[in-house]
Amino acid sequence: MNQAGSMIDPFGRAITYLRVSVTDRCDFRCVYCMAEDMHFLPKKDLLSLEELERLCAVFIEKGVRRLRLTGGEPLVRKNIMHLVRQLSRHLQTGALDELTLTTNGSQLARFAAELADCGVKRINVSLDTLDAEKFRAITRWGVFDKVMQGIEAAQAAGLKIKLNTVALKGFNEDEIPEMLRWAHGRGMDLTVIETMPMGEIDADRTDQYLPLSELRARLERQFTLTDIPYKTGGPARYVEVMETAGRLGFITPLTHNFCESCNRVRLTCTGTLYMCLGQEDAADLRAPLRSSEGNDLVSNAIDEAIGRKPKGHDFVIDRTTKRPAVSRHMSVTGG
Ligand code: SAM
Ligand code: SF4
Repeated sequence: MNQAGSMIDPFGRAITYLRVSVTDRCDFRCVYCMAEDMHFLPKKDLLSLEELERLCAVFIEKGVRRLRLTGGEPLVRKNIMHLVRQLSRHLQTGALDELTLTTNGSQLARFAAELADCGVKRINVSLDTLDAEKFRAITRWGVFDKVMQGIEAAQAAGLKIKLNTVALKGFNEDEIPEMLRWAHGRGMDLTVIETMPMGEIDADRTDQYLPLSELRARLERQFTLTDIPYKTGGPARYVEVMETAGRLGFITPLTHNFCESCNRVRLTCTGTLYMCLGQEDAADLRAPLRSSEGNDLVSNAIDEAIGRKPKGHDFVIDRTTKRPAVSRHMSVTGG
């Protein structure tokens, strides 16, 4: 078994960041993320919250310093706050630097205060438009006002918010300046994301894909953007926007691959570990977890998996590439 703090992949990258998709289910059906009629992972294969906590603890012992809960929608998993509370103990011991989550905001009004009480300091909220009707169209099932209430509750509880916006051609490309002013005016950072070819959806991704190099050039006609070295542990590259005095992040898996600095792996709610968001290779941690009360087997399985973390993904979106780069949806591994 490796010593604590020594998960190093074949390319010398230290793995210090774990993202955990606590459920692949969701109360929205965003058109770029899911098909309307989704097939979810079988319920019988789900890890219990206790098992998820145990797996996270093994990762923390092996050097993970940041942990992000995601999904699907993490806040729709039953008793999710029990897991957050358990994980927050690692913040108190100093073993973990950060516990955070990515959410669609629909349940935040209910949970914001408790999240803050558990030591969560900042969260990512996904929001693709400020127009309630367009919001309904892009999420299929979401209610804009509930998300607004969630954001307000989170800010009232003292949580720092970063908004994540998927840049979609013909949908929100003209709205980004307004969203930028809106977010920065309320003390929130904004990050724009290129749509990634993950899972079959009902729409054609070539129609949705907007290269962020193009978006940035357009923004530069209205705003003064200055590159800054700010980092949050994720893949975004940031600029400071002079006119709004806030930060704007770009996540560009297609136009600028960021794999060389990848420090993360992803665990699903069934105990499958994906070493790269953009590759199919995975390792099963559920069997070693369940076959022994001790953690040696699972720790060895993690080492073996990290030992084959690939150099990077090879996402492509063009008219000649009809199939998604990976067959699973983003909601399985949680972005
Ligand atoms: N349900 C939560 C939410 O929406 O924030 C957490 C999970 S969601 C899969 C995480 C992030 O992935 C969201 O910001 C969402 O917009 C983004 N996302 C989903 N599908 C995507 C895709 N195909 N390409 C790029 N981003 C995607
Ligand atoms: Fe649900 Fe998030 Fe996917 Fe939207 S992006 S369908 S909120 S998991």
